[in-house]
Amino acid sequence: AQLDTLDIIVLAVLLLGTVAYFTKGTYWAVYGDPYGNSLAQANGAAKSGKSRNIIEKLEQSGKNCVVFYGSQTGTAEDYASRLAKEGHSRFGLNTMVADLEDYDFDNLDQFPEDKLAVFVLATYGEGEPTDNAVEFYEFISSDDISFSGGLGAEDKPLASLKYVTFGLGNNTYEHYNSMVRNVDKFLTKLGATRLGKAGEGDDGAGTMEEDFLAWKEPMWADVAKQMCLEERESVYEPVFEIAEKPDMDAEEDTVYLGEPNKNHLEGSQKGPFNANNPFIAPIAESKELFTAKDRNCLHMEIDISGSNLTYTTGDHIAIWPTNAGKEVDRFLNILGITSKRHMVIAVKGLDPTAKVPFPSPTTYDAAIRYHMEICAPVSRQFVSTLAQFAPTEEVKAEMVKIGGDKDYFHQTVIDRNLNLAQLLEILSNGQPWVKVPFSLMIEGLVKIQPRYYSISSSSSVQKDKIAITAVVESLSKPNSPHILKGVTTNYLLALKQKQHGDPDPDPHGLNYALTGPRNKYDGIHVPVHVRHSNFKLPSDPTKPIIMVGPGTGVAPFRAFVQERAAQALAGQAVGKTVLFFGCRRKQEDFLYENEWDQYKKDLGDNFILHVAFSRDGPKKVYVQHKIEEFAEELDKLLQQKAYFYVCGDAANMAREVNALLAQIISKQRGIPESKAEEIVKAMRASNQYQEDVW
Ligand code: FAD
Repeated sequence: AQLDTLDIIVLAVLLLGTVAYFTKGTYWAVYGDPYGNSLAQANGAAKSGKSRNIIEKLEQSGKNCVVFYGSQTGTAEDYASRLAKEGHSRFGLNTMVADLEDYDFDNLDQFPEDKLAVFVLATYGEGEPTDNAVEFYEFISSDDISFSGGLGAEDKPLASLKYVTFGLGNNTYEHYNSMVRNVDKFLTKLGATRLGKAGEGDDGAGTMEEDFLAWKEPMWADVAKQMCLEERESVYEPVFEIAEKPDMDAEEDTVYLGEPNKNHLEGSQKGPFNANNPFIAPIAESKELFTAKDRNCLHMEIDISGSNLTYTTGDHIAIWPTNAGKEVDRFLNILGITSKRHMVIAVKGLDPTAKVPFPSPTTYDAAIRYHMEICAPVSRQFVSTLAQFAPTEEVKAEMVKIGGDKDYFHQTVIDRNLNLAQLLEILSNGQPWVKVPFSLMIEGLVKIQPRYYSISSSSSVQKDKIAITAVVESLSKPNSPHILKGVTTNYLLALKQKQHGDPDPDPHGLNYALTGPRNKYDGIHVPVHVRHSNFKLPSDPTKPIIMVGPGTGVAPFRAFVQERAAQALAGQAVGKTVLFFGCRRKQEDFLYENEWDQYKKDLGDNFILHVAFSRDGPKKVYVQHKIEEFAEELDKLLQQKAYFYVCGDAANMAREVNALLAQIISKQRGIPESKAEEIVKAMRASNQYQEDVW
């Protein structure tokens, strides 16, 4: 696929946009790591003139091992803190955890020989670094890298650096684990010595945790050997001090009851609103899109007027969830702390390098409800750690067994979709686990993550209102006593029910605190921020586009078509706009069925909608089948440089469509498949093929 001048201009603008976006954190302090230490940062803990010199930091704090993380959704950060804890408790290393974005790396050439650097690196999207690792990656991958000691790449400047590395990736993406692979390659090339293997965890195969556990044992053996460390009986040492303040009233205005940062606590929400500082946005409108009784899909319009937040068509909005009251209660009960749920607690790192993942002072209730991911899948390693705090010897033995046996763990925990409190409740028969230190829960659970949604409205049509299209997660398993309820989508469903004055707002008694901390979310509000993406329409509206978006994958395409329809109404020439949509049944989950009719009127023959229903006829029809039927026209459009977009399920659909496209090109153009695959690759590289998949 050749590029014409306009494409090049568009790409240049996109590239500039990307650079601007990625450098915001540095130059305009708009974006930090969306997750890494967002709350700590918002409270002024991280960037208040602290040294960015890691070697100095290690010296001053008496540490000999730093575990850096490049994290987007919190998992890499969690693994980093687990490695740091284990290094300390089992091998006596003096460890600290560090956000890659908090340090400079030009003095890595002076990294002391007797210390260890660990890099836990997630790969994001199309082989990209996570937001907080962008600067590190740019530095370490630079062709003309030079260090403060004056040495450049040729001179093995990192000869004294010993490192360990683990990557978090997803094999459904083309650039599987490219961050860890590349960083490992660069570090080795610069003369550094890796201990153990460069580990790789695969989220696509669902084996991340097991990959991590299997990698770390031989890695520790190697580290112990090379650094002459002796393994010792590991004893739990808390990372945080939890000071209960019975004299303080939770209503005092210095106590955080779920407010994400100081601005919010002090009552005025102040921008800029971003990943560290959400905007409490009114939900202007909400409705359900499915007619099926047992499945829900929400359309919501979130009002961002007056916030200074902006978006462009194709961006994502992040929603900050609140845990369901039912699960908060369960968690408090199983720890035996229900009676003191509103006790004020001051949480502080026992070590100066330990960051508290939420603002303090707070209460047990607020920390659990707003800041801890209490419903997530349970980690097997955490089960092993918790065993020592079991209420009885029998329960302890069962925990040791579950923690030690991969298959048994899957059978008893993962295959039943249990969260931690549900598991503990089942194992102890409801007897509270009063010996578990609360610090351990903060250490062992990930901090709650905002969830992303592909914006389903066009910014040129409604710049102040962001639409989302979200399917509500509700999963039953035959062998589980609990229905898994997605954290964010059920919270949004409850908000919708409230907005509509539904008499039965909560069929599963989830009981959300919908009015938020100190009723600050009353009147149907939800905390949000916007994340800009590179998933964009061609700037020239006459360019043809082909969109593949089954299910909620249609979200950004509703925005694309809405935008093109408005352009057509305004008299602009608009190119062919082809959408492949798929769902189960016409009568049940055909998203935006009526709207497409209107867009068809506005765009005329330039809008073509192909719909695949998988359960309406005797044969299952998917978008892939419809694409095949349309192969000839599709290839013609591609030859006219149509942009090709895929959105939705990463694991199966997006992969299959990618392969199918190569087959179609091969067949239509009479060229070998390998050549067609090259063409598809080139389309991806030049942004003619764009994905927004999850
Ligand atoms: P969660 O609580 O996060 O659960 C999600 C899943 O995790 C569950 O279905 C289950 O498979 C697993 N899980 C959770 N807890 C457990 C447990 N205890 N045991 C075992 N498994 C468990 N979604 C949309 O509907 N529309 C969109 O437009 C959209 N756009 C997206 C764009 C991007 C860039 C990304 C990254 C994601 C997008 N998503 C979208 C997905 C969305 O972000 C959420 O992941 C989704 O809504 C589920 O969130 P939740 O909090 O309700 O569920």
